[in-house]
Amino acid sequence: MAGKFHRVKCSNCENEQILFNRSSIVVHCSECGEALTKSTGGVTIIHGKIIETLSNQ
Ligand SMILES: [Zn+2]
Repeated sequence: MAGKFHRVKCSNCENEQILFNRSSIVVHCSECGEALTKSTGGVTIIHGKIIETLSNQ
């Protein structure tokens, strides 16, 4: 089963990005460089505000 995509708003600026919740890499905001995710042993923690969750079909 595939993971999910989240539309996340950066906590540091107003930028919105689509993030994949099973990414093993840390994703940074494309506008300000703030870390939007933190990977802890396979579980991705999202720092920003989740605006929308999109199912990956
Ligand atoms: Zn930002």
